[in-house]
Amino acid sequence: MFIGHAAVALAAKPLAPRASLALLLAAAFWVDMVWPVFLLLGIEQVRIDPGNTAFTPLDFVHYPWTHSLAAVIVWSLLFGLVCIRIGRLEALILGSLVFSHWLLDALSHRPDLPLWPGSGALIGFGLWNSVPATLIVECAMFAAGVAIYVRSAPSRDRIGTWAFWGLIGFFAIAYLGNAFGPPPPNVQAIAIAGIAGVALFTVWSWWADRHRGAKAR
Ligand SMILES: [Zn+2]
Repeated sequence: MFIGHAAVALAAKPLAPRASLALLLAAAFWVDMVWPVFLLLGIEQVRIDPGNTAFTPLDFVHYPWTHSLAAVIVWSLLFGLVCIRIGRLEALILGSLVFSHWLLDALSHRPDLPLWPGSGALIGFGLWNSVPATLIVECAMFAAGVAIYVRSAPSRDRIGTWAFWGLIGFFAIAYLGNAFGPPPPNVQAIAIAGIAGVALFTVWSWWADRHRGAKAR
């Protein structure tokens, strides 16, 4: 899943108003932020295999340290702990967002998510086997997330409006590029695009979020 992760981060804003959208997104995408680094370090592996599922040309060969159920539980606890000084409720919501990543990936991937590193049991319900079903589910989630965020953090000025809608446009274009563009040329390109994309949307969402909501944080 891609914009489905953004959707839950956006939708979490009213539950944790003191957490910037940047942090909410970082939580929801956390294991996908670590994954490209682990790819470059050779700790995890992905293979480019057009047709692996209808929706993605990627074959997630080995990614137990970012995407096994056990690893995601540990990442969720760590993320929550690190964020505890923002507030207990915020820490709980941020930790839950990290965990939500596994549930959404389990829904969309074919069975390739291990329960723990080394486990032979692989989970995945295969929404990605259908492009229309993937688009319907993810776009509906994204639209709902945007609506919830906009209501709970109205813009205070023009930057708040334009930076936010620019960010939403960026997500939409990146998503459609993923869905309908050519497969990536190599694994290094996947990792670098992943890291660059995440860096961009983290800074961008932090900027937009500062211009939205009831008062300056
Ligand atoms: Zn993922």
